Amino acid sequence: MKKSYKFKQIEEKWQKAWDKEGAFHSCEDPQKTKFYCLEMYPYPSGHIHMGHVRNYAIGDVISRYKIMKGFNVIHPIGWDALGMPAENAAINQGVHPQKWTLSNIAHMKNQLKKLGFSYDWAREVNTCLPEYYKWNQWIFLKMLDRGLAYRKKSWVNWCPQCRTVLANEQVVNEACWRCETRVVQKEMQQWFLRITDYAEELLSGHEVLEKWPEYVLLMQKNWIGKSTGAHINFPLADSSRSIEVFTTRIDTIYGATFLVLSPEHPLSQELISDSEQKEILKDWIEKSIADLRLRRDLGETEKEGIDTGKKAINPFSGEKMPIWIANYVLMEYGTGAIMAVPAHDQRDFEFAKKYSLPIKVVIVPEERTAAEEEGDKAFEDYGLLVVSGPFSGKKSVEAIEEMAEYAKEKGFGRKSVVYRIRDWGISRQRYWGTPIPVLYCQKCGIVGVPYQDLPVVLPYDVEFKGEEGSPLEKVESFVKAACPKCRAQARRETDTMDTFFDSSWYYFRYTSPQEDKQPFNPQAADYWLPVDLYIGGVEHAILHLIYARFFCKFLRDLGLTAADEPFPHLLAQGMVTKDGFAMSKSKGNVVYPDDVVKKYGADTLRLFILFASPPEKEFAWNDKGIEGCFRFIHRIWAAVQENIDLFKDKTKDELEGKKEEQKSSLRIKMHQTIKKVSEDIERRYHLNTAISSIMELYNQIKREMDELRKSKSGRALLRESLETLVLLLSPFSSHLCEELWEMMGHKSSLVHTPWPSFDPDLAREEKVTIVVQVNGKLRGKFEAEVDLDEDQVKETALGLSRIKDLLAGQKPRKIVYVKNKLVNIVI
Ligand SMILES: [Zn+2]
Ligand SMILES: [Zn+2]
Repeated sequence: MKKSYKFKQIEEKWQKAWDKEGAFHSCEDPQKTKFYCLEMYPYPSGHIHMGHVRNYAIGDVISRYKIMKGFNVIHPIGWDALGMPAENAAINQGVHPQKWTLSNIAHMKNQLKKLGFSYDWAREVNTCLPEYYKWNQWIFLKMLDRGLAYRKKSWVNWCPQCRTVLANEQVVNEACWRCETRVVQKEMQQWFLRITDYAEELLSGHEVLEKWPEYVLLMQKNWIGKSTGAHINFPLADSSRSIEVFTTRIDTIYGATFLVLSPEHPLSQELISDSEQKEILKDWIEKSIADLRLRRDLGETEKEGIDTGKKAINPFSGEKMPIWIANYVLMEYGTGAIMAVPAHDQRDFEFAKKYSLPIKVVIVPEERTAAEEEGDKAFEDYGLLVVSGPFSGKKSVEAIEEMAEYAKEKGFGRKSVVYRIRDWGISRQRYWGTPIPVLYCQKCGIVGVPYQDLPVVLPYDVEFKGEEGSPLEKVESFVKAACPKCRAQARRETDTMDTFFDSSWYYFRYTSPQEDKQPFNPQAADYWLPVDLYIGGVEHAILHLIYARFFCKFLRDLGLTAADEPFPHLLAQGMVTKDGFAMSKSKGNVVYPDDVVKKYGADTLRLFILFASPPEKEFAWNDKGIEGCFRFIHRIWAAVQENIDLFKDKTKDELEGKKEEQKSSLRIKMHQTIKKVSEDIERRYHLNTAISSIMELYNQIKREMDELRKSKSGRALLRESLETLVLLLSPFSSHLCEELWEMMGHKSSLVHTPWPSFDPDLAREEKVTIVVQVNGKLRGKFEAEVDLDEDQVKETALGLSRIKDLLAGQKPRKIVYVKNKLVNIVI
């Protein structure tokens, strides 16, 4: 009697069994090599969506594979549980943020369990509980002690919808990253973290992040924005004061024909104060400031400016230069003032043309020696200096060194480095966040809450009306507190922390979630850290991933960890789309995991979401695809049922198989598949091609099945290959495989069963020679396995040293691949 595939029963049965035996419980074991597999923890919005399923399914396969390979695997999960949506729910639906959050967590936890992920639930972390955020406060106080947390009045990005401040990183195209409302500017007292102290290390640390996607590193690099150059003082012509500028091109200084200040520059107002047109100019400055604050991205704006009527002196040439104020200079970068060199800077060039300011060529291409007539655009390259006093005839590169040295000697300048990255503003005027643990005392000023008084707990009874300002301000019992120093009545800070604070160190907390003396236990952290594989969405390329790196370095400086970098290996998974768009309620193209699990089971969903494309690429949902995976699972089920007798009467000679069968094509295929699946999971995380190989193995088993059943040794081989099939498929469709494994007569769960190994001789693939052409010309060749993955072939071709030389860093326009034969690179 064949059993039918009842996925609901099977999945529930094994989820309970794993729970009961603590199958995924992890503890430190110095005898074993650890593997820390981490997926970015979810925000408890209410439901697990398809993007989560994909993210966690990838981590799950890798964790399960590593366990079978004998690693000591830690695979934790938790909740990024503070933040605005909970508070918005309170305002709109009248439910307390805590209640809303905890019930969402309960629901989502249940959803995750139904998907059968291999989490160590004993390590669950929930950032909205005081036992977690207490340590946010502890870390904040450590930063305060070391001068890394400070308060200052500043212009901030303000989201009128969320009614709170946003960090620069949270403003996307002038809009709030969360609700897409247009951001406005406000001046407020704010708490900042001095991430700029770590700017250089955050940049140089990239060197060890070889296993990060190149584009993520580039995004971070641009965000940090390091420029090497010089600060130069330009004295004012009729005053003892001077204007400091930063330039990366001091070699062009003889071509500087005017200075430009940002409208926000402290001197801007002063310089126009005795002008006849004072009022008009003042209005212009104010309008420009308002405008500038709205758009930080200067790309497309028409350049506008005003002449202050004042002059400065070029310290190199001694020439007088007019001082302008213009809307294309930002206060946030450098000093808020620039020397304009229209001949050698395109923006200055456009501005000079518009206002008929002089353009003076001082750099010429190295192959020419005479000064050129001004062209129709700026010459921005390095070259030879001309009309540059004693520096004429020098090359840009050496002149940059010498001129900075000269400025230093003469006392009007110095070599310097500037960064684009700003300190991280963490104050939020919202309730549902970690209270910033400080008090304001009339006598003592800013006083940190003593460590022994932590946590500062969020009061529960708060009114949510959606008015401006934090609801905490109205809770008198919270706001009024005694000064820890002088015991006089003081006022408690009512700002809460940006929730990115919480996620900057949660991966440490997982290593010792019960620790109650410090944020985490350093021994446990040193055993588990760094995270061996971090999987998550690319939308976190700059926000979370820079903050987390910063925190890791700070915690290292506190002596709590030896790790320099928390995530040496980052896998950024692609989006889940349907009908060409990201799944969203407004597009009406959302597929709910619960519905799919109900209809097909978790095993089918997990298999499909990993099968359709490699993890880093976009995944396009289609209903036919899931049907296909469902059928495949049924076939596997049926194949085992049809041969279930083989597992009931094993005799010794059958178990060993016969010599003549050793090199049969199925045996070879089996060993090749073990090799391919292992490598796909391990090396490139190409889980999709791993699944295809498993499907191919199944096909061959199916083709040969009837024939094999005829002989004793054939039956042994059939049995062995069915077992292998189940082992290989088990990280993907784990419940199904556990059930089949049990039916095959195994007593212990698959989770800790060793991963099958392969015989390299049997697994050796046939090789082909791939010819590599560049623009149709033969430029190289290499050996590859037959039917090797297309991406892998292209990668190998591009990696040949001869090809690299020919490309010289440029990106190919097109790469054509003719299977098993040739790669043609078009440049
Ligand atoms: Zn918003
Ligand atoms: Zn005091």
